[in-house]
Amino acid sequence: MPWTLRSGVLALLLIPLTMGSGAGATLRPSAAVVPSSADAVPSSADAVSAAAHPLSAGRFLVAPSGYYRPVIAGGKVFPVARSNFFDLLEFPDSWHAPRLRLVGGKWLLIGVHEGIDITAERGTPVLSMTPGVVENTGWIFYGGTRVGVRGADGRYYFYAHLAEIARGIVPGARVRAGDYLGRVGNTGYGADPGHRDEFAPHLHFGIQAANDGPWVNPFPTLVSLYSATARADQKAQGMLDRLAASSNRAAWDRVVARLYMHLSPW
Ligand SMILES: [Zn+2]
Repeated sequence: MPWTLRSGVLALLLIPLTMGSGAGATLRPSAAVVPSSADAVPSSADAVSAAAHPLSAGRFLVAPSGYYRPVIAGGKVFPVARSNFFDLLEFPDSWHAPRLRLVGGKWLLIGVHEGIDITAERGTPVLSMTPGVVENTGWIFYGGTRVGVRGADGRYYFYAHLAEIARGIVPGARVRAGDYLGRVGNTGYGADPGHRDEFAPHLHFGIQAANDGPWVNPFPTLVSLYSATARADQKAQGMLDRLAASSNRAAWDRVVARLYMHLSPW
């Protein structure tokens, strides 16, 4: 049964976030989505007593459709962005699940899956989990269009089946945790570059130990990072709701600008 993520109860955990510009092709992790005290966040009493509640008044404050900025937890980022319009991300624990391999012209069920597949809508931004240096890009038979990043920790981070690679993501380029690497697609399982549609769109994400060591199971790390991301996004979304309810439009605009990346859906 697929392991489906759902938002839980708000936790006290406040994810450490770093400030970034968020402009252009290189998307930086979010600034703290909590407004500073200068933003004059309304008290809960203000929010509750707001007679001119925007919904009851027939007015809506709606953020443009887009993606949440990456949330850094422990120096790492969940590698697929969450959208605010179609939040369908699933990643069953597919570590060492059976996989096909092409042997002598025949597809045989003899492989094992050395990574985790993260299902998302085609075109969803793929983000670097860690800081590091891009080691390779381009086409490989099983992985399709892929990006490989040598992490600062010496491990190799593998992002496969991409629909496209982001501008500036070339071998030798330095990336930070949360940098935009490309878009989710379903390329691969073919020798001809661009071959696709052998399976549904998803990110294949793998981690290989340093010095060409064994592949390691990224599932626990992914669960932890996704949980941190969902909690932080939910907390910020709650703040937006309170600002909207109190008609604090200026503060609402500032939080929206910090919460979402400047990258359009496909
Ligand atoms: Zn996979």
